[in-house]
Amino acid sequence: MKIIHIASEMAPIAKVGGLGDVVYGLAKEQRAQGEKVQIILPHYTSIDHTLLGKEKEVAPGVVEAQYEKLPLLLLGKYAQIYGNDPTSEIKRFASFCHEVMAYLENESFDIIHLHDWPVGLLAPMLKAKNPDTRIVLSIHNFFHQGQCPKDQVENLPFDAIGDPHDKSQINILKGALLNSDAIVAVSPKYAQEILTETGGAGLDQVLKQKQNILTGILNGIDTDYWNPEDDPFLVYHYGMDDIDTAQVGKESNRAHLFHELNMDRIKSPLVCAITRLVPQKGLDNIEKALIFTLENGGNFMLLGSSPCPDTQARFNDLAAKYKGPNLHCHFVFDEKLAHMVYASSDMIIIPSEFEPCGLTQMIAMRYGTVPIVRCTGGLADTVQDGKNGFSCINADDFDKTLSKAFDTYRNHPHIWKELILQGQARDFSWSESAKKYAAIYKTST
Ligand code: ADP
Repeated sequence: MKIIHIASEMAPIAKVGGLGDVVYGLAKEQRAQGEKVQIILPHYTSIDHTLLGKEKEVAPGVVEAQYEKLPLLLLGKYAQIYGNDPTSEIKRFASFCHEVMAYLENESFDIIHLHDWPVGLLAPMLKAKNPDTRIVLSIHNFFHQGQCPKDQVENLPFDAIGDPHDKSQINILKGALLNSDAIVAVSPKYAQEILTETGGAGLDQVLKQKQNILTGILNGIDTDYWNPEDDPFLVYHYGMDDIDTAQVGKESNRAHLFHELNMDRIKSPLVCAITRLVPQKGLDNIEKALIFTLENGGNFMLLGSSPCPDTQARFNDLAAKYKGPNLHCHFVFDEKLAHMVYASSDMIIIPSEFEPCGLTQMIAMRYGTVPIVRCTGGLADTVQDGKNGFSCINADDFDKTLSKAFDTYRNHPHIWKELILQGQARDFSWSESAKKYAAIYKTST
């Protein structure tokens, strides 16, 4: 079967968040399971070409390349991945979709796999051209739908993408939902949540019409890439088979990191947050957790930045107010540092308001770091309170949950070890999830 993934991100060459990890991890596993896979991406100027092998411009604006044996196609020329202005973002991705249409004219394939609204226009465009085209749509974040005033864009399939609530607006995700053969949310719980008024963000009624083709498949993580036994970004490698050795490995990495960052209190718990600083991620609780940790004798590392200047300013102020040897805020995207932080931390906080799947809790568990989460979406599917982490239903209870984690860490080391062991025992690889996608492809053809 030939599958073409079309997306706005692919890790590590064009990554903003989990979407990029998923496109790469799923495609890699599908290839390992014997499928023919290709990935089509916008050709961003930020792509690090030293990572790519065998590049060839086969037509103007059409570059064939490879990343670790995965065939890529880079189309057009685009300065950045996302921006703050919805209309210009829609125009850029619409232009990319037109380029994809031109390319696919002469291509054969079995499945077109689309990821989120940026490539959603392709569903109605492809179906209009050939109703037999088989399209699978993955929903990574239902909150982003590709909306802007209709009169600001042109040359789009307006009949398919009219907003269901406002005739003057377009809604690209709506057109994608109504023109796909299968819709896959990135976790089973999220598939249920987007059918509700709150989770559906205005499209729940449209999605209900398509409920018969909606499923949820939990994302995996690339367990070769995220592996503390041979992660090239770690200073000390460690396996998780023996918990005591693992803890020594974690402490050694932490000692190195603390030395580099001038931090102290090496024996106290290290709590981290590795996240985009956007409202979805529970900003108030991130702030409260930082303060709680410092006031309770712990260390806190925040790795993440915000696309919104006001939010960034709020966290800059917070970092300045609590500046000291027990806090490190790193307001940039830093892949290398992220690996060391996963490996060095005792706890990761993920107080998201909603979380389609979430990868950071799975990565953290693989590195022996205990997740403290709000029970929503994929966090609910992966973290069980008191078994492999700590979880609360209400956002208001998050500080109590963190306090429970501190108590367990300090006063019940045996329970703490058991939490770590349970977390790393679960298979978060792509293997099973890729098989579930294969079953969906089969029923869609
Ligand atoms: P989302 O896709 O909503 O951003 P996920 O949990 O699904 O959230 O995925 C986040 C991914 O981005 C993870 O791989 C995480 O390690 C990474 N990440 C987030 N912020 C940073 C950062 N500042 N530096 C490095 N990696 C980051």
